[in-house]
Amino acid sequence: MSFASETRRRRTFAIISHPDAGKTTLTEKLLLFSGAIHIAGSVKARKASRHATSDWMEIEKQRGISVASSVMQMLYRDHVVNLLDTPGHKDFSEDTYRVLTAVDSALMVIDAANGVEAQTRRLIEVCRQRDTPILTFVNKMDREGRDPIALLDEIEQELGMPCVPMTWPVGQGKAFAGIINLRQKNMRLFKAGQDRVTDDEVVSLDQADALRARFGHDFEQAEQNIELLSEAAPAFDMEAFLAAKQTPVFFGSAVNNFGVQEVLDALVDLAPPPAPRQSTTRLVQPDEEAFSGVVFKVQANMDPAHRDRIAFVRVYSGRYTQGMKLKVQRTGKELRPTSVVTFLSQRREAVDEAYAGDIIGFTTHGGVQLGDTITEGEALQYTGLPFFAPELFQAVELANPMKSKQLQAGLMQLGEEGAIQVFRPHDGGAMLLGAVGQLQFEVVQHRLKAEYGVEVRLMPSRYVGARWVTADTPEELKKFTDASSAKLALDAADTLAYLMTSPYDLRLTQERHPKIHFHPLREHA
Ligand code: GDP
Repeated sequence: MSFASETRRRRTFAIISHPDAGKTTLTEKLLLFSGAIHIAGSVKARKASRHATSDWMEIEKQRGISVASSVMQMLYRDHVVNLLDTPGHKDFSEDTYRVLTAVDSALMVIDAANGVEAQTRRLIEVCRQRDTPILTFVNKMDREGRDPIALLDEIEQELGMPCVPMTWPVGQGKAFAGIINLRQKNMRLFKAGQDRVTDDEVVSLDQADALRARFGHDFEQAEQNIELLSEAAPAFDMEAFLAAKQTPVFFGSAVNNFGVQEVLDALVDLAPPPAPRQSTTRLVQPDEEAFSGVVFKVQANMDPAHRDRIAFVRVYSGRYTQGMKLKVQRTGKELRPTSVVTFLSQRREAVDEAYAGDIIGFTTHGGVQLGDTITEGEALQYTGLPFFAPELFQAVELANPMKSKQLQAGLMQLGEEGAIQVFRPHDGGAMLLGAVGQLQFEVVQHRLKAEYGVEVRLMPSRYVGARWVTADTPEELKKFTDASSAKLALDAADTLAYLMTSPYDLRLTQERHPKIHFHPLREHA
């Protein structure tokens, strides 16, 4: 197969939702459906640790589990479908944002009873910023939930884009009778069950009379709603969907593996293949021959005896083949992985080849950071991997001063992984940790001890925020650094940041230094 056709048959998407909406269940059913797994329950098994508590064991478990399960590849209708999971806990939302930079579309799961929930809202924002096409799955139709029309209204409000129903439910809760496929003009009759795959009864709408007789009011109500929607809702428009200007909506019940095939088909038929990607120098086409990719996630090995890490790379162009020579553009050094894996459903396997859209994992002993561009040689640099200004700060105090070297090493690696942001104050003094969620501190403290043998105390800090700083000329920057030295620090990528003690502090500083730019978001360059 040519590069172009390999690229065209790939779909890479993330699945996003508020906890408990049914993301894990839907993931499992998608895998089951595509034949990637055969036993229901295997994704579920890891669920116990999903809602991270402050319990160390839980955190450890979650980390271990997420390596195996955060990327899954399946083959469906001769397409290679890459599914990226996103962390459930809001304290790790930064990871989620980065995962969203590595996909070409997103599948949003909504609980029919709860509608759009807090965390979904934040994820939607990120998708919107990047104009990521979103497919919507309204789950748990087998439970009493909200009226579907009202739900669509709400999704539309929250997303700020029209919803286009592709399927429509007949009945709900105990009376859930099935879904009407609006394009194929048929109704798939609901049957409860965990691991059914293709034994559904599908009835053509030509036999509407029979369906009306069988499902009575619920069917008539659905017919009326569809009639209403055909006037009120826009028709599905591929271009609008790809531009993130409308979302196709599907109804179903993940736990019953119902309405899932429609979603999988939509991923193949509607979701986009890998797109060209802008680098700092040029637009890179996915079917170019030379390999390029970006590290969007770094995960430390679970085994503390091995300091190796897996760098998750989203391939943007070309083909990866085993043993290929690759370069990390930031350092110009060769990437020397000890192993390179692909993620087939739940297993990790040595990768033979990978194309644009695929995710591969390089196991290395260091030398790679979040946001690194990896190529066969060309000096390409992709941008767009976001780091958010932390809002929580703690100062690191070493229990045993003799361990200062280990601490430096540990913090550097954890910083590179994106587990936390590390700031070195300009004027010296204790290192500062910056986080978006409180749980990140606990994880880092725990990991420093478990993996680097360093015990630290985390002390309160007076800072409440950070802004990355740039200026138009070196002179202006120098003037600013001289004046504000006590509040400046360098992060893990050596980018200068201003640490603020209050929003007022920031405002005042901005007024005093109108020529300095303060950025709440840093994109890896
Ligand atoms: P996640 O936190 O989004 O990954 O949610 P899970 O997939 O773990 O689902 C949360 C709960 O909802 C679990 O108890 C599931 O069994 C249940 N659930 C998932 N899908 C459905 C569904 O279609 N109907 C019903 N009634 N329950 C569901």
